[in-house]
Amino acid sequence: MVIEEDRYRIHRLTGQLCDSDLETAYRHSIQQRLSNEYSLALGIGAFIFGIYVLSDYFLLGLALEFFLLLALRLAVVSTCLLIAFKIRRGKIGVDGWYTLPLWLLATGIILIVPLRPESFSTQIIAAVVAVLGFYLFIPNRLTVVTLVSLYLTSGFLVALVAFTDANLVDVTRTAILLLTANIIGFSTLLRMESLQRVQFALLNNERGRNQALNEEIISRKLLEEQLRTSAERDALTNLNNRGHFMKLAGKMLQRSQSGQAPFSLFMIDVDHFKRINDTCGHCHGDKVLAEIAEVCEESLRPTDVIGRFGGEEFIVALPNTNLDDAQKVAERLKREVSNLSLPDEMGTQSPSVTIGVAAANAEGENLDALIKQADQLLYIGKRAGRNQVVVGRDGGGPNADEAV
Ligand code: GH3
Ligand code: MG
Ligand code: MG
Repeated sequence: MVIEEDRYRIHRLTGQLCDSDLETAYRHSIQQRLSNEYSLALGIGAFIFGIYVLSDYFLLGLALEFFLLLALRLAVVSTCLLIAFKIRRGKIGVDGWYTLPLWLLATGIILIVPLRPESFSTQIIAAVVAVLGFYLFIPNRLTVVTLVSLYLTSGFLVALVAFTDANLVDVTRTAILLLTANIIGFSTLLRMESLQRVQFALLNNERGRNQALNEEIISRKLLEEQLRTSAERDALTNLNNRGHFMKLAGKMLQRSQSGQAPFSLFMIDVDHFKRINDTCGHCHGDKVLAEIAEVCEESLRPTDVIGRFGGEEFIVALPNTNLDDAQKVAERLKREVSNLSLPDEMGTQSPSVTIGVAAANAEGENLDALIKQADQLLYIGKRAGRNQVVVGRDGGGPNADEAV
């Protein structure tokens, strides 16, 4: 797949992403792996460079040149190992002494030529292998590796001319060989670098798309939630609207009946609400309605279901509540509403409610019948002077004596 986005363009010569922020992000994402691979490569390079001490010994014996070479190899190997160790531990970052071992190894290989001039033919192979090794084993450092390899190539050729008896043909052949190694190594590493970045770009793209998808899912869920809320809730009081209340209370009544559990219902109407609207204004009327709704929510149990039935009427379903308990709850609710204050225009008056309380006692009694019964009880209370709780006793019909 071709990454077409301009953002993911890769530089033809360096194999790096043209977008510097993206390149930094890529480097950051591979930093740990890179440090591990690089320190391992340095360890291997140091080992190979060190092991050639045997070859020095076989060639030179215990001559002065051997000891010079031994000191050179020891210095290069120990520096490489020390830096590799520190890189692995995270104590040296890419900006510090990170590439020093490469320059040391290259210098070491060049310096072997004047110390062992007669074995230059084998050293040519070593130099070619070193150039390829730099390109193949040093990850994500194309520019530095290229510079080090060219330094090794030119330094080696100069040393060959200056310190050995290699003729022009030997030098030319060596130059072509080293150049070939550089070209092969460079193009291989360039391809690797580019491919890795393409892979990173694809992954990045995929992540971006996934993130956008997740955000879309979240916003849709939110919208769904808002739609559900607006379909189920009353905007002014945030109580269940009539339709949703009927659904919840219907199920609740069925459960109570099948479990032979008591079930009660309140019909609540605010007394003389029109007067509040007329005296204090519609806005204040709205505020009083919202406050009464809040009192209902605070005063009732979480398992009770409260709804705004219409205008200034509220309805409550109380599962597992018999008529006596429901009456006590209604009384408490009535009291708490009367503790609310009205604006000064209403004098010392406080809002009051009249509550009709009905209980489901006959099997199969449906919600509509129960509501009707509570409504009738409520109107008995209204006729009897308001601000009271009216309870329907056995026999189904309203009992005006229960008016408090
Ligand atoms: P009663 O004691 O007999 O119930 O008297 P009432 O004045 O409360 O009853 P009525 O049915 O005469 O008036 C109800 C008023 O409630 C009329 C209507 O304008 C008002 N109302 C209904 N819904 C709202 C609302 O959402 N906000 C406000 N502010 N007023 C509302
Ligand atoms: Mg009313
Ligand atoms: Mg009213």
